[in-house]
Amino acid sequence: MSLTLDFLISWLLIYIVLLGIFFIGGYLIIKINTKLIKIQNEQCSAKLVRRDMRQSVFSLLNISALLSLGMVLNIHGYALFPNLSLPIYMDILALFVSLILFDTWFYWIHRLLHTRKLFRYVHAYHHKTRTPVVWSNNSDTLLDNLFLQSYWLFAAILLPIPIEVLIIHKIYDQISGMIGHSGYEYAGPIVAKSKWLIGATHHDQHHQHCNYNYATHFQFWDRWMKTLYKDYETTIKAKAVGAKK
Ligand SMILES: [Zn+2]
Ligand SMILES: [Zn+2]
Repeated sequence: MSLTLDFLISWLLIYIVLLGIFFIGGYLIIKINTKLIKIQNEQCSAKLVRRDMRQSVFSLLNISALLSLGMVLNIHGYALFPNLSLPIYMDILALFVSLILFDTWFYWIHRLLHTRKLFRYVHAYHHKTRTPVVWSNNSDTLLDNLFLQSYWLFAAILLPIPIEVLIIHKIYDQISGMIGHSGYEYAGPIVAKSKWLIGATHHDQHHQHCNYNYATHFQFWDRWMKTLYKDYETTIKAKAVGAKK
């Protein structure tokens, strides 16, 4: 099949998968939220919830395009490591490496997007919501996605990470991102005490105090660069699963 046709088919398939996770996952998360502790006292306005849901449907279309373009270029040989096949233990190692690399990419590009001009023209749209809900996860502009989500395109072309591993990572990122915007804390005591892993409180606080908590999977960049919000540890311990409501 031609590269263009492959791209269009995989774009559609990836979009259907991500959209399915967004809506089915979103409704499940809202159901689970009723058993958890809310992070903020404020509520998101119904108007912003509708805006975020609408924008996410559009934004997932361009995220799917970036991932499927990388995938198809790799499969057709336009990559440094095309059609890579690894033993399962190496796949697991590659997933771990991808998580660290994406977190590093996300932290630094995200900090760049918080510089005055880029924030205004590229990233402010996402921050209009100060009390995020699950539907806020992909409420980003096209330009914002071209910065933060182009990892999926570059990783498929440049890194020795099999395509299946990148797809698993993207699905994990979609689900963890939605939990991170849910407004409720899903962490148990281990994550709440961890100096490396993060709970939903981490990104929720980024929406409240936007000069802190830039990372997406782990805490280590925020700790090293002293951008971890000062109340993060106390808040997550108070909101974690099992803490008193
Ligand atoms: Zn931000
Ligand atoms: Zn956000």
